[in-house]
Amino acid sequence: MSGPALDAVLELDGVVKHYPSLGGEVVHAVDSVTLGLSPGEIVALHGPSGSGKSTLLMLAAGILAPDAGSVRFEQRDLAELSAGELADYQRRKIGFVYQSFHLMAGVPAVENAAIKLLADRVPLAKARRAAIPWLERVGLGRRMNHTPDRLSGGERQRVAIARALVNNPRVILADEPTGSLDTQRGEEILALIAGIAREQQVAVLLVTHDPQAAAFADRVCTLRDGKLAANGFAGSEPELVQRQARG
Ligand code: ADP
Repeated sequence: MSGPALDAVLELDGVVKHYPSLGGEVVHAVDSVTLGLSPGEIVALHGPSGSGKSTLLMLAAGILAPDAGSVRFEQRDLAELSAGELADYQRRKIGFVYQSFHLMAGVPAVENAAIKLLADRVPLAKARRAAIPWLERVGLGRRMNHTPDRLSGGERQRVAIARALVNNPRVILADEPTGSLDTQRGEEILALIAGIAREQQVAVLLVTHDPQAAAFADRVCTLRDGKLAANGFAGSEPELVQRQARG
């Protein structure tokens, strides 16, 4: 496999993460993974349970530090950031979407979507104003004041997508975003994430078991025992040739 793309916004370069196990052996959770994400690119990450997907997401988020290799955001190694800069990366440059939504119960959709701004001490009225266009973009313009218990699963995930995007991050890290949804709702959510990623030029790392995800991804990667086993392009053959010619 070639090295990270030159225009990558997020690059994992030879990343290794080991965990000690109870038996004294070392678990190679992530083993020499090199992966670059360009603006607007959607990379689907498949792999069986225990293959290292969650660990890879935590490395990409700077929640875990690699034992070897580097994670770079806009050419800067996360290991070289100060604590304040790393917190800024996590709060403002990346957005998370989870399988189980993680919305705040009893809080209206618009304030759930605005939560990162509120945590950043943006005044409520201004934070709500910033969240409204995102809720409209995800198709919830008429559900602004609904609390999560008054929203369907698909609608809750739409709020979570608006929340992830509200402060214009450069990267979305999505962990099984369709895992709690039926096939149709899942497909709608994948289409929404893909559409927004391309229009906003946000890179998306999409951990998923969902076979539908390949249709929306630019690349499908497979992790096995911590190693990247495949790093294929999901596009048609002419696109593949063009991409290779560019790359
Ligand atoms: P996945 O998300 O693909 O299920 P994980 O990244 O959670 O995989 O786990 C990869 C491997 O690392 C597994 O063998 C798992 O048991 C191990 N592992 C994950 N977290 C820890 C930890 N905190 N301590 C020890 N081993 C861990």
